[in-house]
Amino acid sequence: MHYDKIVVGAGAAGSIIAARLSENPDMSILLVEAGPDYHPAETMPDCIRYAYGHDENIWAKAFGHDSEFSWNYFARTTDEAPPVLVPRGKIVGGSSAVNSQIFLRGVPEDYDDWFDLGNDEWSYDKLLPFFKKVETDTDINDEFHGTEGPILVRRFKENEWHEEQQAFYEACLLKGFDDCKDHNNPKTIHNKSNAAREFSYYQAHWCNFKHPLSVLRGFKHY
Ligand SMILES: Cc1cc2nc3c(=O)[nH]c(=O)nc-3n(C[C@H](O)[C@H](O)[C@H](O)COP(=O)(O)OP(=O)(O)OC[C@H]3O[C@@H](n4cnc5c(N)ncnc54)[C@H](O)[C@@H]3O)c2cc1C
Repeated sequence: MHYDKIVVGAGAAGSIIAARLSENPDMSILLVEAGPDYHPAETMPDCIRYAYGHDENIWAKAFGHDSEFSWNYFARTTDEAPPVLVPRGKIVGGSSAVNSQIFLRGVPEDYDDWFDLGNDEWSYDKLLPFFKKVETDTDINDEFHGTEGPILVRRFKENEWHEEQQAFYEACLLKGFDDCKDHNNPKTIHNKSNAAREFSYYQAHWCNFKHPLSVLRGFKHY
């Protein structure tokens, strides 16, 4: 079998590369992934399908110790420190399939720092159209948000928060932290130091491929 392009790893990066390449109907693409793929979505195990926000115990099964959807990597930060789990997803969707689905952009000042260092395609203003292109924000429609992208974004409503989350939120307000209804709006974040002080709740959903492409399960250890 001949393919024009072969992409190894159907994670956050590989899936997007394969999906964008597949927009050209004349190009044949093979996407190779070590972990499983689930079609239709209803066949997905609950820990992947519902993930973070639904039940933290279910979510932990997606990436936790001995999960069949994780590479089960361990690492030590120092010679003395005990090994800790370094979660990495092994499934179509990669680590994005087992992650917290928090959809936060970087702080504009950081991108502008990159620009100042000579990366002239990486200023916040140049990136903003792509941030918008990738999302359909179901809550906010303004100059900072997209309405036609493949990733659906929503914020957890206050009545969906767990008691502990509500208590934490209120305690933070009492301590003088600012509320932030939209962390991806630089006008709300104000500046870098404030960004760490404000918080809000996000959820993003995985996107669908536009055209069919071949997805092969397999990998090789070196
Ligand atoms: C538990 C957890 C929570 C996270 N929470 C968030 C969050 O809330 N928000 C956020 O923005 N980011 C979060 N992240 C980080 C984010 O998911 C990653 O930065 C992102 O997925 C990295 O994308 P990637 O394409 O580089 O790698 P991955 O998405 O990990 O994809 C790599 C893919 O390649 C496959 N692969 C590897 N080697 C081979 C091989 N030899 N052959 C075939 N396939 C192979 C893997 O199985 C995997 O599917 C989280 C990550 C984890 C693990």
